[in-house]
Amino acid sequence: MIPSVLPTYSRAPMNFVKGEGIWLIEADGRRFLDLGSGIAVNVLGHANPELTAALTKQAETLWHVSNLYNISQQQELADRLTEATFADTVFFTNSGTEAMELAVKMARKYWYDKGEDRSEIVAFGGAFHGRSSAAIAASGAEKMVKGFGPLLPGFTQVPFGDHDATRAAITGKTAAVIIEPVQGEGGIIPIPDQCLKGLRDLCDETGALLIFDEVQCGVGRTGRLFAHEWSGVTPDIMMVAKGIGGGFPLGAVLATENAASGMTLGTHGSTYGGNPLACAVGNAVMKIVADDAFLAEVNRKAGAFRQRLEGLVAAHPDVFEAVRGQGLMLGLKCKAPNAEVVKAGYSNELIVVPAADNVVRLLPPLNISDEEIAEAVRRLDAAAAAVEAG
Ligand SMILES: *Cc1c(COP(=O)(O)O)cnc(C)c1O
Repeated sequence: MIPSVLPTYSRAPMNFVKGEGIWLIEADGRRFLDLGSGIAVNVLGHANPELTAALTKQAETLWHVSNLYNISQQQELADRLTEATFADTVFFTNSGTEAMELAVKMARKYWYDKGEDRSEIVAFGGAFHGRSSAAIAASGAEKMVKGFGPLLPGFTQVPFGDHDATRAAITGKTAAVIIEPVQGEGGIIPIPDQCLKGLRDLCDETGALLIFDEVQCGVGRTGRLFAHEWSGVTPDIMMVAKGIGGGFPLGAVLATENAASGMTLGTHGSTYGGNPLACAVGNAVMKIVADDAFLAEVNRKAGAFRQRLEGLVAAHPDVFEAVRGQGLMLGLKCKAPNAEVVKAGYSNELIVVPAADNVVRLLPPLNISDEEIAEAVRRLDAAAAAVEAG
């Protein structure tokens, strides 16, 4: 008999009933150190007092009004985001996938309005942009698209890191190129600055719009407010979600005035996107994260964490191969199967998340303390020893 929850996930046998900062508390009382953050979502830890206060205050005042009316919390968040980034305008969604849908629509409408037949979207191998029809077509990965055809047409994939193939794929038919500045699901793979610069140049030469998917790598995760800032390259359109809501469902598409020019009255909408509750929390997240001193701390702690992880790799050469990533978006490339490392983590009350390419992801809350980093490394060390012991 089919379970009452549609069984599309393989679920670990834990049932968390409470969260406190970096800790997740299981129904039986065990305290797990959480380096997954709900997959880069709980950027300020669980039950963060400032976020809880913002959400509670909003819940006591106004939960929902339609986008047929002005929403002051949404206006404030849009102003914060445009002030802090390349973007001139923002549309709010409830998820990263919805942001993907709008990014694709926006790029296609841009060219339609110019009277040009440019609808193709170039994406990269190993990319993840969500699970909607557009997002799986962009990924092209067999495990995501098989059985769901006919796929949305107009998407091509370029092998990641293949400059010549990229150059060949971006043509006068290309509406936009989409890339994660740091691939998340693909295995914590930062795109070298030179590649992002080269991509920007190719887009400028051909006119194609450049879309950055910062759903996982954005909102302070890499030590800058948005990951692309490290490269000095700016996109035309950017997708944000996960961390921006700190655990409350919230996403956004940010765009330049030019890239957004096709999205006129009535061309897009959302019932819940940009609702007062989500935006109240988004503002509280931005107040804390979009701050130079906070981001400097993220970088300092990331350096300390990474150094300890290098030591861990050296100490367990049969389990780990290398540390990768940027800021607090870290990955351990494994020699042992990553699923075994994840499972050994659970036995040591430690949450880490698998990714492709046999990588284990470490995505702690950005306000992790030095003591928590030390404890995380102790538990990873114990987990590695357990994997070695078989
Ligand atoms: C998680 C993710 C998405 C999809 O976001 P949802 O909120 O799950 O819809 C899209 N792109 C990237 C890079 C992601 O990590």
